[in-house]
Amino acid sequence: MVRREHERAVIALERRLGLSSVRTDEAALVAASRDESEAEVVLPAAVVVPRSASDVATILKVCAEHGAPVVPRGAGTGRTGGSAVVTSSIVLDTTSLDAVKSIERADGYAVVEPGVVTGRFHEVCEREGLFFPPDPQSAEWCTLGGNVAENAGGPRALAYGVTRDYVLGMRAVTMQGDELVVGRRTAKGVTGYDMTSLLVGSEGTLAVFTELWLRVIVAPQVVRTLLATFASVHAAGLAVEAVLRAGIVPRCVELLDELCCASVREIDTAALPPDATVALIIEVDGDEARCDALLERLGATLDASHARAVLVAKHGGDRERLWAARKVLSRALRKRAAHKLSEDVVVPRSKLAALLDDVRAISSREAIVMPTYGHAGDGNLHVNLLWNTPDERPRVDRAIRALFERTIAHGGTLSGEHGIGVMKRDFLTLEQSPALVAAQRAIKLALDPRDLLNPHKVLPRISHRAC
Ligand SMILES: Cc1cc2nc3c(=O)[nH]c(=O)nc-3n(C[C@H](O)[C@H](O)[C@H](O)COP(=O)(O)OP(=O)(O)OC[C@H]3O[C@@H](n4cnc5c(N)ncnc54)[C@H](O)[C@@H]3O)c2cc1C
Repeated sequence: MVRREHERAVIALERRLGLSSVRTDEAALVAASRDESEAEVVLPAAVVVPRSASDVATILKVCAEHGAPVVPRGAGTGRTGGSAVVTSSIVLDTTSLDAVKSIERADGYAVVEPGVVTGRFHEVCEREGLFFPPDPQSAEWCTLGGNVAENAGGPRALAYGVTRDYVLGMRAVTMQGDELVVGRRTAKGVTGYDMTSLLVGSEGTLAVFTELWLRVIVAPQVVRTLLATFASVHAAGLAVEAVLRAGIVPRCVELLDELCCASVREIDTAALPPDATVALIIEVDGDEARCDALLERLGATLDASHARAVLVAKHGGDRERLWAARKVLSRALRKRAAHKLSEDVVVPRSKLAALLDDVRAISSREAIVMPTYGHAGDGNLHVNLLWNTPDERPRVDRAIRALFERTIAHGGTLSGEHGIGVMKRDFLTLEQSPALVAAQRAIKLALDPRDLLNPHKVLPRISHRAC
């Protein structure tokens, strides 16, 4: 239900920005209400499309004056409801701010707007012989603003780190409409608190980014891809631990369990060999000599870890085929059931095989199908839960809680890259103390005293006394 004061905010925005910047048609409202999670949503009062950073400040100021909550939005590919509309709000769609403003080659950074699609930025960098390593598997659709707000990762995080490692600074606007120029454009800098790190991963709850300064590096000369197959996920998990214990650091180690391998085959019958029950996709990069040496050491370690087969992709086409199937895996799993949730827990790498055993045990105890894949080299697993009917939901909820409890017991964390959003906020206290949650709430209220910017996200629910 849209509240009266929010309707007044919409009228004021139409007056300030023009009718073409404010959409209230049902198709636009429905499309902007949800992301790629199972969050329960309501329709927003409007979707507002800024044409400039100053429009963003105007939108936030007008909404603050009318007490209207604002949900910043990128491409809506988030997994935890970060851009889902869970209470009457106005959606601020940042996809229109999509300029790559400059690439400062000598200084190793790029200036971009938040709505740039990540894959497009990869292409721009590639044309310059440069490399922006963060590679969420949604890169074709998601935006850099969404990546920074979620501190997105991806397969290459193993060798190169996550989005946070590539954000030097930014321009961002608070709910009061104040612009913060945060961080630096230099190779180093220690001025004041590290506000850049605070804003990275803040899930649209502290400020809206209008410009990002992203570190770019020189692209590796050669990339080589290897596929190792195993009889069980436990064996694959132990193999990952063995590779890392041997001091080999590939650029990625991706795991696909039995159901994921079957789903990849449904997408492309030739992408995996027929006997690949469980698979690891491993990539190395550098110059030819380094890649050859790493592949040799990897082959020996994987053989000793009971790999059934170790195959090196001979042509670029084999490699592209494998990654194309891996990229649409999530969507292929979605087709297997009416409902799908994807968790992204992380454990210390030495606990990977133990967590994979836990997932099997939970899946069989609760009779819920839980296909698992992900960035095994980081100890980061995308544990999916598939179900069809509402009567299965209590078992799904028990399975999620058990998964989180086992993750924490192994010394792990609830989210490696998808964030907390609305889907996991009530589990935050499994991992964080009340004092830490209170400190984060104090930071939130310092920047957004009336709790209007993306409310109900990240921190567990409290009574909204400040509103
Ligand atoms: C098939 C698939 C594969 C995926 N693979 C990966 C993966 O490998 N690694 C990974 O990390 N994630 C992955 N994701 C999750 C998702 O793509 C990422 O979280 C991504 O960063 C979201 O970007 P978005 O543009 O879609 O943002 P949205 O979903 O629209 O928003 C995400 C959050 O960012 C905030 N936000 C958006 N723009 C701004 C802005 N300008 N200022 C402030 N806050 C803003 C929103 O409020 C929200 O909290 C995957 C998702 C799908 C569907």
